[in-house]
Amino acid sequence: MRPGAQAARTAGGCALNARGDRQDGLRAAVDAYCARIGADPLLVQGAGGNASWKDGDTMWVKASGTWLAEAQRADIFVPVDLAHLRDAIAVGDFDVAPRACAGSALRPSIETLMHALMPQTVVLHLHAVEVLAHLVRPDFAGPAPAPWCWVDYHKPGSALAGAIAARLREQPDAQIVFLQNHGVVIGGANAAEVDATLAALLACLRTEPVAPVAAVTADMAQLTIIPDAGIQQLALDPRLYKRLRNEWALCPDHVVFLGAEAACYADADSFIAAQAAGAETSLAFIAGVGVFADKDFGAARTAQLRCYYDVLARQPSGAALTVLSAPQLAELLDWDAERYRLAMAR
Ligand SMILES: [Zn+2]
Repeated sequence: MRPGAQAARTAGGCALNARGDRQDGLRAAVDAYCARIGADPLLVQGAGGNASWKDGDTMWVKASGTWLAEAQRADIFVPVDLAHLRDAIAVGDFDVAPRACAGSALRPSIETLMHALMPQTVVLHLHAVEVLAHLVRPDFAGPAPAPWCWVDYHKPGSALAGAIAARLREQPDAQIVFLQNHGVVIGGANAAEVDATLAALLACLRTEPVAPVAAVTADMAQLTIIPDAGIQQLALDPRLYKRLRNEWALCPDHVVFLGAEAACYADADSFIAAQAAGAETSLAFIAGVGVFADKDFGAARTAQLRCYYDVLARQPSGAALTVLSAPQLAELLDWDAERYRLAMAR
């Protein structure tokens, strides 16, 4: 610990570093980078994904529910006590609650520990489509442009952090951590290094999406058509529609935002009959007709659904996908931290 850090922590919750230009420059670079990648729906969906940088005993991490795309317009980062997190990690305590430095009203990301575990200065975690398209298959073996490791699916939060810690102990030089059915973590000395690794990784894993099926659709009962041509393909392309029933629960964010299963209807008549019988549907997939949602569906859920389409469109026809199990779904949907994040992200 640096001299004076303890005193600052006692007084203010944690040591806030004011080293001036170098850190200001780092922050500006991270802000600009986050805003850029946050605007690309193939990299970031709504409030998903997060970034951090370390400054001595302080780590600045994205606040829960905020959007990376907003990095230059709003204060999305919250400073937390990194020394406190590292002390907890050292004794295997992955349930530790990050301590935000005094003066911040924001709540640190539920994925904060993942950032503290990575030794690099700048850390980026994304649910990037081109990567996710591989992480939902049972047989991922790379390639990747830098030392990497693989972590099996675990509920985001302490369980996932513990699993990442175990893998990083085996491979401490990893710059890329693949999270099954979830996303990727990339560490680097600065934003430019992280960006170079991400660009090289995307070049390794890029897949051409299937060609879209054309169709004409209109609003349906009290639901309106979602104005996104990709999302519509989920109902219009029979190969994608077939996956909705058994391969819906691919990723934690997808389930948290969109529920544990898809409301699928074989045709317009069966949808209308279900509505007449009192079915409460806020999102409906009608085969060959379209994908419909209520007027409150919102940008965050639309972004998640678009991500799902983008991932499915990159699967080889008939390829088996790994889905979350019933117990994994149950633990995800009964989670207070997620409810907070959803409320913030709307
Ligand atoms: Zn994540």
